[in-house]
Amino acid sequence: MSFKALTPGATIGILGGGQLGRMTALAAARLGFRCHVFATEPDSPGEQVCNRATVAAYDDGDALDGFAAAVDVVTFEFENIPADAVRRIATTTPVRPRPEILEITQDRLREKDFLRAIDIATTTYREISDATALARAMHDFGYPAVLKSVRMGYDGKGQVTLTPETRPDEAWRRMGGEIGILEAYVDFACEISVIVARGQNGALATYPPVENQHTRHILDTTIAPERIAPEIAMRAEAIARHVAEKLDLVGVLAVEMFVTQAGEVLVNELAPRPHNSGHWTIDACITSQFEQLVRAICGLPLGSVEHHSDAVMKNLLGDDVERWREALNDPAAKLHLYGKREVKPGRKMGHVTRLFPHR
Ligand code: AMP
Repeated sequence: MSFKALTPGATIGILGGGQLGRMTALAAARLGFRCHVFATEPDSPGEQVCNRATVAAYDDGDALDGFAAAVDVVTFEFENIPADAVRRIATTTPVRPRPEILEITQDRLREKDFLRAIDIATTTYREISDATALARAMHDFGYPAVLKSVRMGYDGKGQVTLTPETRPDEAWRRMGGEIGILEAYVDFACEISVIVARGQNGALATYPPVENQHTRHILDTTIAPERIAPEIAMRAEAIARHVAEKLDLVGVLAVEMFVTQAGEVLVNELAPRPHNSGHWTIDACITSQFEQLVRAICGLPLGSVEHHSDAVMKNLLGDDVERWREALNDPAAKLHLYGKREVKPGRKMGHVTRLFPHR
């Protein structure tokens, strides 16, 4: 499908009603675009800031068709949108990034196979189809190892750490998926990510690598830029650019990586959308990851990724949200709340970015 650049006034469709869609819509509004969100729940963080919303299930064909007809381009803010829904929309309306990228990244096995095929290093892994296969693989891999469900996993959901005491049948049940992937445990020195934007014309813009600290598999803090050796940072950026090119990405992609004790860089996961570890770019960079997404999918030039401040981004998870007043009292802090009514343990309610301006 040929694609003409969109101009301000056009409507961007966003699949998913979460905070990533909300922040994309805010960036889009600033550039004069309209947004229409498709969400499964009413009053979603995205809907609250969009001028139109469709609230329906992802298998509601009429709702998908109506949404596709009402917008000029579609993007997604959540990986686990059913592939059928995205493919259906793509028959009438451009979807950026293209649906095939979503299909690769929503399946941990396809994702790792893709990475291997383009010569990107990952930890050792194996497909697991049942508890017997798991028992055999545990024996081969040694301990610790990590079992993950191939689909619908994020923030540590569907993930089990295996030790010599773990019973394979018990681990298989806890994982709770149909197909699993066993990964050798990476004894990492740190976790980093790189966000890369790629425009319609193939132009690339890479934000500097950031360091991510997780608690219970959920991102807690991002330190931007990271404090690793410049040589490792350069390698990480080169990996992100290579992946974006090989995927023929139009949009924004986050590449999550482990830096091993030996200084190796291994890719853990890809997310073809704005990413939690890129929230710092809103307040510390000339162009945020959300604005880059809007520019890329509309066929407009990418913006500068320069940062005028260093930053530490902290997620407000669950009850942490009560500390919003504290953030407002800190002159170096920028508070972002996502408008979620219900507080649940570990739920991403907002974030605070502390800025350290370059003098
Ligand atoms: P994921 O859902 O794959 O992003 O995993 C969430 C978090 O679990 C990662 O950010 C790591 O902290 C940890 N993790 C995942 N896979 C591994 C692994 N193979 N080795 C060590 N830690 C891991």
